[in-house]
Amino acid sequence: MSKQYIQAVQHPVFELITKASVKLGIRSYVIGGFVRDYILERNVPKDIDVVALGSGINLAKEVAKLIPGQTKISVFKNFGTAMIRHQDLEVEFVGARKESYAADSRKPVVEDGSLEDDQNRRDFTINALAISLNEDDYGSLLDPFYGISDLERKLIRTPLDPDITYSDDPLRMMRAIRFASQLNFKIEEESFEAIKRNVHRIEIISNERIIDELHKIILSDVPSEGFKLLYETGLLSKILPELTNLQGIEEKEGQTHKDNFWHTLEVVDNIAKNTDNLWLRWAALLHDIGKAPTKRFDKKIGWTFHTHEFVGSKMVYTLFKRLRMPLNDKMKYVQKLVMMSSRPIVLAQDIVTDSAVRRLIFDAGNDIEDLMILCEADITTKNPRRYKKYSNNFKIVRQKISEVEQRDQVRNFQPPISGEQIMETFNIKPSREIGLIKEAIKEAILEGEIPNQYQDAYDYMLKRGEKLGLTPVNDKK
Ligand code: ATP
Ligand code: MG
Repeated sequence: MSKQYIQAVQHPVFELITKASVKLGIRSYVIGGFVRDYILERNVPKDIDVVALGSGINLAKEVAKLIPGQTKISVFKNFGTAMIRHQDLEVEFVGARKESYAADSRKPVVEDGSLEDDQNRRDFTINALAISLNEDDYGSLLDPFYGISDLERKLIRTPLDPDITYSDDPLRMMRAIRFASQLNFKIEEESFEAIKRNVHRIEIISNERIIDELHKIILSDVPSEGFKLLYETGLLSKILPELTNLQGIEEKEGQTHKDNFWHTLEVVDNIAKNTDNLWLRWAALLHDIGKAPTKRFDKKIGWTFHTHEFVGSKMVYTLFKRLRMPLNDKMKYVQKLVMMSSRPIVLAQDIVTDSAVRRLIFDAGNDIEDLMILCEADITTKNPRRYKKYSNNFKIVRQKISEVEQRDQVRNFQPPISGEQIMETFNIKPSREIGLIKEAIKEAILEGEIPNQYQDAYDYMLKRGEKLGLTPVNDKK
């Protein structure tokens, strides 16, 4: 007898699917990620995949009828699927199918099939598990490829020949690595070798889909697990050559520099312990990409990467554009963090002056905390004495930040005197002088020459105006 998983299908929505299936005289099963995650005792997913031996769309419609009130149903006729949103669930219905592929496309030729056919077309054994929703064997597990055993062995394995599986749909190579990283599984040796052989096939996959998987790798607990696999298979140099270009240590005249690729992966693992913010993790991943094009050797000072932060932040744009990621505030945020990634350490190495801290807060604005998290993750030295020194320096910077913030309110700072006010005071039209005076006030505040307060800024404006040969019309002090 097959294993029973009645507990997995207790949600009332499954009962409705059973009722609807009986009404249509068809069989149905819950399959894929839901079953896998239930057995792994992960957070039970909110997306549920149901396969019907019949029309998925008709089954979805029938289920919708059984739910009182308005149920949202989206039909994707071309794919033969339909989705229902019910409470916080998204249930997707598909008819069981048999698939075959042409070499130049991810789009298979599809025919109706049996449950076994449908399980055959699934990417991994652990994703081919199905639980019956039929009255005669409700809750029984259908596991033709020993997926349960692979879950126990923590193994990513394809149901069919891996070379065919990956070549048919090369996105599966990304998915294999994503699941390995997300679930802390190993990719079976044969499968791993097949990925290496099929790496070139990734070219037929859209950037959007690649990025979806990449995001999930970046969001895993130990992202370097996924990146190592991407690197070893050869996928990484196809997707993110900016990163693989960082790999390697060069030596000249006995001087070496660190391997910035492996360093970067450590930084990403470090930051993953302190934030789930996807874009902050991206910033960690990209914070050193400017180092490959800026690397120079100088006989006196050794290896340098001058302006790598600036060059890196420009590269962020090109990279986002190439991969069709959003060129919006998320990208600007990553650029900003890459651009500023060395600022706190430079600060920490010097005597930390208030004015330098004020500038840092002013430039970082609300991202100051994220910037500090990035910089702290960037400490990867294995020398305990140095580690201690750097992290202590950051503690001092943090301490200073909170002191200066409380006192000076320079975050998202607007100079207390506006351009209009300068025009009124000196009775002048829009002109270069206004900009000069405004800039001088801002500088005086950031340098700590005057406090960030209206009266002090007003007095300072009068002084600067007079220096420029302007006279106040009526002193409104
Ligand atoms: P998650 O929801 O965490 O991303 P998942 O396994 O549920 O994981 P989905 O993309 O939701 O992934 O896909 C649902 C199911 O559809 C999978 O479990 C798998 O059986 C099948 N599947 C998805 N993508 C593919 C693919 N590229 N090739 C073969 N089967 C796939
Ligand atoms: Mg899913």
